[in-house]
Amino acid sequence: MEIPILYIVVPCYNEQEVLPETSRRLLDKLRSLIARGRVRDRSRILFVNDGSRDQTWPMISELCQSDPHFGGVKLSRNRGHQNALLAGLMTARGQCDCCISMDADLQDDIEAVEGMLDAYMNGSEVVYGVRSSRETDTFFKRSTAQGFYKFMKLMGVDIVYNHADYRLLSARALDGLADYREVNLFLRGIVPLIGYKSSTVTYERHERFAGESKYPLKKMLAFAFDGITSFSVKPIRWVTGLGLLLFVASIVAVIWALVVKLLGHAVAGWTATMISIWMIGGIQLLCLGIIGEYIGKIYVEVKDRPRYLIEAIELDPGREDEV
Ligand code: UDP
Ligand code: MG
Repeated sequence: MEIPILYIVVPCYNEQEVLPETSRRLLDKLRSLIARGRVRDRSRILFVNDGSRDQTWPMISELCQSDPHFGGVKLSRNRGHQNALLAGLMTARGQCDCCISMDADLQDDIEAVEGMLDAYMNGSEVVYGVRSSRETDTFFKRSTAQGFYKFMKLMGVDIVYNHADYRLLSARALDGLADYREVNLFLRGIVPLIGYKSSTVTYERHERFAGESKYPLKKMLAFAFDGITSFSVKPIRWVTGLGLLLFVASIVAVIWALVVKLLGHAVAGWTATMISIWMIGGIQLLCLGIIGEYIGKIYVEVKDRPRYLIEAIELDPGREDEV
């Protein structure tokens, strides 16, 4: 197999604290890969500025001036991690033989890049980075994240356990990804759907070395909920099942009420009435909410709005004949 052109795609949202260190470490890594003949010199580190309000974009811009191995994509506004990542991947598409996506905080061990490249050279089109442990995460983050994976499985969404968005995609997998046009983007669910030969590489996850997490609990819950409703109709089936169950229960209740009536003690029943009104009302609202969530998704998909707009690109892909 020929020596590949590698693009490392890094979404950045208000990451001015981590960028100097991240860019230095990634450049060192890329230089060493190039020196050892593992990737071509035309490989790039592509930062995607996701509408940051701090100095992130000027810093990226400066990096691009300082070294041709850096590239930058500036989105028109904040579109969220998944969209920013997609924007980077789609920019890399057509320029590279394979690309690796990772977070700007380098919580994911960049040494795993070597293993991913090995797997790619051995024919894998998708290589998932999988965390071996979560010891450095807080107890809260660890348990909510693990609960998330388990719940997703239960809901019928096929995702790779303990895999975030640290992965290698081949040019072919990128082309495949480009054909998934959905606006409700959940990459972790889509990538397994692409198929092709895949493998995993395990690594230790570190603590964020600077700056703070851009995923507070509220965003995490929204992310999980989106993931489920974008990929699974199981919740709707549950609603149907619940409705069926209640219907059967109501038949029993009708028979019971008639029997009580015929026996002549029909006064009782305040408690039963109160309970059933509140309970059935609550269940109905909940079910309507779940179904409404899907209709909302359809609404957003039908509008087919662009997932991101690119304001500026700073990228020198290098010449064809370059090594
Ligand atoms: N990120 C982004 N847009 C956002 C939020 C986050 O591009 O709206 C990026 C962020 O800069 C980082 C990655 O997504 O590179 C993961 O975010 P973070 O490290 O805060 O998440 P955590 O590791 O805590 O789950
Ligand atoms: Mg992080």
